[in-house]
Amino acid sequence: MTIATTNPATGETLKTFQPHSDQHLEQALDRAAKAFQTWRRTTFAERAARMQKAAALLEERKDSLARLITLEMGKLRKQGVAEIEKCANGCRYYAENAERHLADEVIATDAKRSLVKHQPVGAVLAVMPWNFPFWQVFRFAAPALMAGDVGLLKHASSVPQCALAIEEIFKNAGFPQGVFQTLLIGSDKVQKLIEDPRIVAATLTGSDGAGRSLGRAAGGQIKKTVLELGGSDPFVVLPSAKLEQAVKVAVAARIQNAGQSCIAAKRFIVHQQIAEEFEKRFVDAFKALKVGDPQDDATDVGPLASRQVLDDVDDQVRRSASKGARTACGGKRLEDRPGFFYAPTVLLNAENTAAFQEEVFGPVAAVTRAKDLDHAIALANDTQFGLGAAAFTNDSKEQERLADELEAGSVFINGMVKSDPRLPFGGIKASGYGRELSQVGIREFTNTKTVWIG
Ligand code: NAP
Repeated sequence: MTIATTNPATGETLKTFQPHSDQHLEQALDRAAKAFQTWRRTTFAERAARMQKAAALLEERKDSLARLITLEMGKLRKQGVAEIEKCANGCRYYAENAERHLADEVIATDAKRSLVKHQPVGAVLAVMPWNFPFWQVFRFAAPALMAGDVGLLKHASSVPQCALAIEEIFKNAGFPQGVFQTLLIGSDKVQKLIEDPRIVAATLTGSDGAGRSLGRAAGGQIKKTVLELGGSDPFVVLPSAKLEQAVKVAVAARIQNAGQSCIAAKRFIVHQQIAEEFEKRFVDAFKALKVGDPQDDATDVGPLASRQVLDDVDDQVRRSASKGARTACGGKRLEDRPGFFYAPTVLLNAENTAAFQEEVFGPVAAVTRAKDLDHAIALANDTQFGLGAAAFTNDSKEQERLADELEAGSVFINGMVKSDPRLPFGGIKASGYGRELSQVGIREFTNTKTVWIG
């Protein structure tokens, strides 16, 4: 895998990077281990001051950082700016709340005094994807550094400039040398890093294949992992829903980031009573989407991140059509321009096809009809994944059943699935394990230590 910046809007490779040498990695691991010994002893106030500074730098640099995101993975400029603002917000959240989330808990037992402490564990390796090249990293780094851990980032090979810009932010915010480092390496180096005693734990956000590989390597070393993997989120629409709102949110939930989001709604399960009307409005809305230059704020859907993603989406749509899905709109590459563009696509009657069974990472919606609520829930749960799930209904009994019975890490009723620093985020089944964000997230890479004093 070459480490390079390729502009997805033009297909042009603009810059390639020499991977870091083994000697460089050795030095980085040493720096991390050394930095941890000091960093773990800093106060929350000292860490928070730097994390607030990182938030301020993100705000200050948001236009240039968003340009970098657009350049390396094709995200719409306006969505890039929103991503950077979200990172700043995440930094502020943990600067303000880490101490409270990790405070000692005194528990009454037979001891004179017994308590639970949450202490940092050391250097954590973070293997990250390109689709939210800043947010995925900050979502890990803000809580980990506030907890007193140190981080080593192995970012996706397609976003090296983003990876280096993140390291620069932490450096400029005053985090001591070795507390956060970017490693420019391919995935072939990950196993060796996991085996190194200076790495104590790892987190991976990415495909389930990469997650399985990292999980195996870490399991062999008895090292803790958090895995945030793929999803094929259901989006259930029932008769009592406000249809106009449901359609609007359904479109936004599918095409965000050109469909390349783990929590994008991917399978639309619509009650038969309203299916015809939903499908008509949904397809009309997809046909009206403007595909084009990600720098142009009038654009709704930009390019896919790479030729590989484009090829995969095209293949999945073709296989789905050959198994009986009906292409209501789109269904093809946009070959009239350079770059990796795919037409926004709606596949009807898509149950039992690749679009329903696999994760499709592009602007492709798979729709099917459900006979009733039981059927809708069964269809929603009929997947290897379990990241998020959304449902639209104004019937409170249905809302409760959906909240209880949808098999996912998050269930959103009458809204699209999103991440929020105040709420835990993560999946079940092949979508991974462990949680990021909130109090649950910051405790993942800590030692929950029981202290008993007689
Ligand atoms: P990917 O190919 O799995 O890559 C993710 C990261 O893992 C990259 O840094 C990649 O490095 C590395 N990697 C790949 N194979 C590996 C292996 N065998 N061992 C160790 N590391 C390996 O995923 P992607 O295409 O970048 O991202 C899309 C996927 O991420 C989708 O499935 C999406 O749903 C998922 N995702 C999940 C979440 C979540 O929170 N659950 C959030 C965002 C994305 P290289 O780039 O060098 O190959």
